[in-house]
Amino acid sequence: MKPGVKKSLEAIVSPENFSDQLIDLVSYSSDATSRRHRPEAAVWVTDADQVADVLAFCNRERIPVTARGAGTSLAGLSVPVRGGLVMDLCRMNRIVDICIEDRVAVVQPGVVYADLEKALAPHGFFFPPDPASGSVATIGGNVATNAGGMKGAKYGVTKDYVLGLEVVLADGRKVKTGSRCMKSSSGFDLTRLFVGSEGLLGVITEIILKINPRPRHTGTVRAAFDSLASAGQAVSRIMRSGIIPSVLEIIDRNTLIAINQNTDLRLPEAAAILLAEADGFTQEETNAQLEQIIAIFKENHASEVRMAKGPEEAEALWLARKSAGGVLFRLNIALEVEDLAVPLSKVAEALEFISDLAEKYRLRIPTVGHAGDGNLHPGISYDPNDREEVNRVRMAAEELMTKVTELGGTLTGEHGIGLTKAPFMPLEHDDVSLEIMRGLKNYFDPNDILNPGKMGL
Ligand SMILES: Cc1cc2nc3c(=O)[nH]c(=O)nc-3n(C[C@H](O)[C@H](O)[C@H](O)COP(=O)(O)OP(=O)(O)OC[C@H]3O[C@@H](n4cnc5c(N)ncnc54)[C@H](O)[C@@H]3O)c2cc1C
Repeated sequence: MKPGVKKSLEAIVSPENFSDQLIDLVSYSSDATSRRHRPEAAVWVTDADQVADVLAFCNRERIPVTARGAGTSLAGLSVPVRGGLVMDLCRMNRIVDICIEDRVAVVQPGVVYADLEKALAPHGFFFPPDPASGSVATIGGNVATNAGGMKGAKYGVTKDYVLGLEVVLADGRKVKTGSRCMKSSSGFDLTRLFVGSEGLLGVITEIILKINPRPRHTGTVRAAFDSLASAGQAVSRIMRSGIIPSVLEIIDRNTLIAINQNTDLRLPEAAAILLAEADGFTQEETNAQLEQIIAIFKENHASEVRMAKGPEEAEALWLARKSAGGVLFRLNIALEVEDLAVPLSKVAEALEFISDLAEKYRLRIPTVGHAGDGNLHPGISYDPNDREEVNRVRMAAEELMTKVTELGGTLTGEHGIGLTKAPFMPLEHDDVSLEIMRGLKNYFDPNDILNPGKMGL
């Protein structure tokens, strides 16, 4: 980085909040994928004015800026592929306001999801999206990716809770969108435009969130199925039965085998298991839902059904799902986590396709997913040093994405497009949609400094 540029950035953020040290540049060159590209420098910003001054300067100097929360993206979103500057927002981590009367929380972008949950708990409220990375990922990152989680089927995803934003645009101007109101039909919905925009349209510096009262009771049940078709049928029957489970997760046989090989959980190595949680404000309400779920499991030929008798047993059942992520990352040197979503009626077909694909390309593709909202995570494990295998992974991923769009699905249910899904954008979006997206990017960021090289735009 040129000495003059370094001096100007240090003048804005102070020298201790600027780094061009190799150790920092290497840390900021990757996210949770295997993609890597080193930035030239990093800044830690502490308020919106600094964000504005840094962006205005970088815009004049045409320096790429990649906003960064915890760097846990699973799609290469936070990898600074064009170099330039990484802007770390983790120090903007103040919970500005929790107002139960208005049912809102106002936070800075660097607040960690779990810290907001801790702050809301004494009030009996929660922020439902619940990404599995919640112990480290930031709310700014959640908003920029439209993150979801296990509670998506009943409670929706991040976009369903963002009421308003403060955003700094590429030229340094600040814009406030939305309000603290529970509803609004006022003008174009700029808030929704920024949610899921992956740091390509502006840097989010404050977020107004709707929060929910936390249900007082939960219950958990697990069922094993000897065929993917039966498991898929059970999902479909539950989702049209009139109840909506707070969680409905699927784990396929490949994942169950991998978990058994790496833990002492001794799970049934069935074609798939489904894990369901029901919640309610009374025990009766919760039990009534669980009974209905169990009946549907049995009608659909579940070979084993286990209901947790209390919180400890429930925790033991959930360990299977919670251990899956860590276990899959240990299967091989690299893991490409896909994030497709399909209509609920197509879950079984998608699972069977993935299983056939693994056989066709001689790959291990264990799959877990949020069956209740059709969001599946096939994890393709491979050795990046084996060129022939890498080629098979590429072909399998392309075939999978093509099939997903044929099923009326989407490339990504919650992780975003970033780098890994960018080549597939034309499969899902028609030419006019892509032209509008490019036009928006050009309007907000004519010099293409904000997280350039992403989303295929
Ligand atoms: C083990 C594991 C489990 C995961 N589980 C889930 C899950 O259940 N659900 C889910 O949705 N995701 C999950 N993820 C993916 C990831 O945690 C989410 O995408 C998360 O929302 C990213 O937050 P972050 O703070 O790490 O953001 P980063 O990775 O730092 O950034 C992500 C994107 O947001 C942009 N960004 C960050 N902050 C801002 C800001 N203030 N303004 C503008 N743009 C910004 C970045 O430029 C980048 O494009 C998981 C990841 C891992 C490693």
